[in-house]
Amino acid sequence: MTDAPGRQHWVSAETSGAALPSSTDIVVVGGGIAGTAMAYYLAKGGAEVALIERGELNREASGTNAGSFHLQLAIHQLSGQGTEADRDRLLAEARLSLEAFEVWRELGKELGGSLDVHLTGGWMVAETPEQLRILRDKHELEERAGIETEVVGGDELGARAPYLSPGLLGATYCPMEGHANPLVVAPLYALRAAENGAVVRTHADVRAIEVHRSTGSRRFTVHTGAGPIDAHRVVDCAGAWAGELAGMVGIRLPVRSEGLHVNVTEPRPPMFTPMIQHIGRRLTLKQTENNTFIIGGGWPTPTAPQPKRYPTSWRSAAGNTAVAVSVVPGLADVRVVRTWSGVIVFTDDFSPVVGESVRVPGFHACVSSTGFTFSPLFARQLAEQMLSPSAASPFPQRYSLDRGPAFPTNRMEQT
Ligand SMILES: Cc1cc2nc3c(=O)[nH]c(=O)nc-3n(C[C@H](O)[C@H](O)[C@H](O)COP(=O)(O)OP(=O)(O)OC[C@H]3O[C@@H](n4cnc5c(N)ncnc54)[C@H](O)[C@@H]3O)c2cc1C
Repeated sequence: MTDAPGRQHWVSAETSGAALPSSTDIVVVGGGIAGTAMAYYLAKGGAEVALIERGELNREASGTNAGSFHLQLAIHQLSGQGTEADRDRLLAEARLSLEAFEVWRELGKELGGSLDVHLTGGWMVAETPEQLRILRDKHELEERAGIETEVVGGDELGARAPYLSPGLLGATYCPMEGHANPLVVAPLYALRAAENGAVVRTHADVRAIEVHRSTGSRRFTVHTGAGPIDAHRVVDCAGAWAGELAGMVGIRLPVRSEGLHVNVTEPRPPMFTPMIQHIGRRLTLKQTENNTFIIGGGWPTPTAPQPKRYPTSWRSAAGNTAVAVSVVPGLADVRVVRTWSGVIVFTDDFSPVVGESVRVPGFHACVSSTGFTFSPLFARQLAEQMLSPSAASPFPQRYSLDRGPAFPTNRMEQT
């Protein structure tokens, strides 16, 4: 990370290992990009905040992802665009991409350090006439939302992207897409949060959350392996485990988790700059500034119970790289040097979970599947709202924490 010489780059073990305070205004649970960003924006805005992580910072999805900015609408978003309401939702999501892009463009400056942000542009390719039709519809929606994309096919695609397979029928190009380094973003957010007064504590797993009925005291007692902490408000940034955390206060979030693969190759001379995605097959592909290729796109891994790491699978590694070679034939003799897995949170309705619960006031969440791209924006928006609670919520109803079915019995412990 390039920064002023002599400047500290990480929250020190001494700081993150210190005793928990007995109380605070806001407890943020989860030390990934969402939790560290929340802690940063809240602390910078003057709130008293404690970030609690059960392991080390940035060890789960935020430090194991592929680092891509996914700004073009994806196939899962487009699959239900039959009605006008669907189109309105898609337009809103496309506009959100613009806002996320603006946050990322300024984030290195905001945090005072390099995040290896590269706005390289991105292709989304189509192999079949049906996929090309979806790309054209997508382009039309993005244009209406103000996102710059273009549909490119035939000889023009061959001339502009000679590295792509000649078998492809077309692609959309979006100049805003790109990538950043997932290994440095959350740690830098955490460091800046601590510099702004946030308490940052690792190795403190949240085991239970008590919700108090009396109004005079703090509403929550968060019980951790490192002791209890009282708080007026709690923010659930537990990523793939966000459902478990919300379950502690009786909220059933509409989330599930899945293990995903990423592969990285040996370096090769520069072959292409833009990120490459496929509209119909699982692929994200980019050549990094180190000239290695990062190949991902959502290939599954077997699961393993926490605290075990999810294993990798040859079937996924082979399937993922086969799609990459079919799209960029020049990769055929490039060797994969490492494959790893990470655990991602998915919502069944594809919307993120962001805002404050109506069922359990004071309990908030900031959870999203494309969370490397969108967590900085969502965390900033949620922090702004928490700092001025009378302001109207910027989040649509479909992001609600309470949209899942209630638990059959009231599991919320009231004291
Ligand atoms: C392999 C892979 C590739 C991906 N690629 C991309 C991509 O290219 N672009 C993109 O935009 N997104 C991508 N994503 C998604 C993105 O990484 C996540 O959406 C994002 O990192 C979520 O951040 P988070 O902070 O919410 O969760 P996490 O980073 O998972 O952090 C949650 C934290 O909460 C902690 N925690 C959980 N329970 C407790 C508890 N009870 N007590 C204390 N702490 C707790 C965990 O230990 C963890 O550190 C990818 C994800 C994976 C897995």
